[in-house]
Amino acid sequence: MARIPLMAGNWKMNLNHIEAIALVQKLAYTFNAEDFAALEIAVIPPFTDIRSVQTLVDGDKIALKYGAQDLAKADKGAFTGEISGPMLAKLGCTFVIVGHSERREYHGENDQTVNLKVQAALRNGITPIVCVGEGSEVRNAGEQVSHTLRQLDAALAGVSSKDVANLVIAYEPVWAIGTGEVATPADAQEVCGAIRDQIRNVHGSAADQARVLYGGSMKADNVAALMKEADIDGGLVGGASLDPDEFVSVCRYRMHP
Ligand code: PEP
Repeated sequence: MARIPLMAGNWKMNLNHIEAIALVQKLAYTFNAEDFAALEIAVIPPFTDIRSVQTLVDGDKIALKYGAQDLAKADKGAFTGEISGPMLAKLGCTFVIVGHSERREYHGENDQTVNLKVQAALRNGITPIVCVGEGSEVRNAGEQVSHTLRQLDAALAGVSSKDVANLVIAYEPVWAIGTGEVATPADAQEVCGAIRDQIRNVHGSAADQARVLYGGSMKADNVAALMKEADIDGGLVGGASLDPDEFVSVCRYRMHP
């Protein structure tokens, strides 16, 4: 079964809701029906922008998907500052990023937190984009595959094969995030291929459906080579997703020479 490519723009903590509207409007009039037929395109803005993005996407019938950068483990309750899965579902979010390395590093999220958040997303009908990947010390030690697969197994503990089939896994080597240092296509494929093999070992044919993205300094000038690799089904794009021309060009990787 052919997997539909996915390009998801992680805006991180950038753009207020007015700026979000401007960026989505630019994307909407630049992308055409052919783009939306060729791949799934998503923006992942800060929480405070999501309602504005929803209104615009619904009102103008834009085929753009959107999501959130995080969610709470619990569905409701006394968790000051948290945003729950039901709240995101009500806002029409298709995706939610779970376990981004910045959440792991700055907010103490561990593998168990990530697993509980994956489950929170799934029980609310939102597709988690589960981030895994090694730091530079692990890579220098040559342990990128075993490290990333440990994170993967922990994140997916208790998740059914049916749910795994619809998941998105983002392999994001931490040393490549926001650094301009992109993994070579072969290095990215090594780990993305190992992720798919591991999903196959545990969940059988779900591996043919689950999408594996690469993330880490993906840009217009490196996306085409990465997308040629057998197990890379798209990208989680940080910095380059804030520039509409660059993001459109990333999404049009298939037209690059
Ligand atoms: C990210 O934050 O998920 C990311 C991949 O960032 P960048 O593209 O800026 O490296």
